Amino acid sequence: MPAMIDRYWLKAGWLIDGAGTPAQSNVLVEIREGVIVGLADGAGGERPDPGLDFSESTLTPALVDAHVHLFMSPIADEAARRRQLSARYDDLKPVMTRHARDLIRAGVLAVRDGGDYGGFSLRLRDEFGPGYPLTVRAPGRAWHARGRYGKLIGRAVGGADLAGAVADEAARIDHVKVVNSGLNSLTRFGRPTAPQFETSDLARAVQAAARRGLKTMVHANGAEPVRRAVVAGGHSIEHGFFMGSELLSLMRDRGCVWVPTTVTMKGYAETLPPGDPRADVARRNLEHQIEQVSRARSLGVQVACGTDAGTLGVAHGPSIFEEMSLLLAAGFSLEEAVAAASVAGAELLGVEDHLGPLAPGRPATWLVFDQTPVEMARALRPPSQVFVNGAPVQEE
Ligand SMILES: [Zn+2]
Repeated sequence: MPAMIDRYWLKAGWLIDGAGTPAQSNVLVEIREGVIVGLADGAGGERPDPGLDFSESTLTPALVDAHVHLFMSPIADEAARRRQLSARYDDLKPVMTRHARDLIRAGVLAVRDGGDYGGFSLRLRDEFGPGYPLTVRAPGRAWHARGRYGKLIGRAVGGADLAGAVADEAARIDHVKVVNSGLNSLTRFGRPTAPQFETSDLARAVQAAARRGLKTMVHANGAEPVRRAVVAGGHSIEHGFFMGSELLSLMRDRGCVWVPTTVTMKGYAETLPPGDPRADVARRNLEHQIEQVSRARSLGVQVACGTDAGTLGVAHGPSIFEEMSLLLAAGFSLEEAVAAASVAGAELLGVEDHLGPLAPGRPATWLVFDQTPVEMARALRPPSQVFVNGAPVQEE
């Protein structure tokens, strides 16, 4: 087994490096002690031993889901869903662990959690520890304004106290999550919600986090909630439905990353009962968001793939391929979609040291897709194998 061998070669039919470079064909990869030491043209046909033959397959970096909720399952049964949304850690731990396994099987080796009411993802992160194949980056509980949306994923705080609350928590969390708008209406297309916080309060919180080395992710839909988050220096906008072109340009200028979570609306549209009018609004939201993503690409906004896994109809793991497919529908090339779902996410999470592009000097961590790039672009499927540091990940 290669796992036992310090040094081996691998022949890849195609390699997508995750940096947005066009797919290379016939690549010979040299691996030493879990690290890629060389990439060479393997077209000559000669293959050094010991070697692995993936000449019919495509290699990509491991994927990163920049927005999940590990504590939530995408189940449609409302009673079961309600139970899950008030359960204790001991009840949820098996569920969260199953989600983690589903993510690993899909080749997602790092997630950025968007928060839960009990700080459960933080606890799970500590229990998994650094040796676990899935890196969990957790905010603990999100912050939302009193009387506004966000109870399920966090706790309420007054705007004036937001920065202080962030400073108090900073030592135990990986990033800050702030909720700055409501949810998208599923009864009235495009109905905006008011921002939750003042720009100045948001800015103080972002700075308090940044002084402690933490980034801030902001849930925001609609122009004004997004505008405040971007002006305040937020590092990423989550969802960003109906923000409009002007805000996309501002995001590009400020280096703010967009995590559009487009697949959430596909999830609603496909999971709500037939004939439910909310499904139609969800479908319109979906179409509208695809147009925004297309505009973001033309404008040069940095997009990272995040699914909001755990929301209705959005499963941990497989949904990353649906989100990538929606990027393709918005005009991304396959290589750009892979970059958004790997290196862009790794940078946003600060895990690019072990989940960066496939290049010499980088960890031998990749996914094997039994498809050509043309087939992948037509119908993305989960990988057949996941490698970490030169060795295949074994199912538990
Ligand atoms: Zn979320």
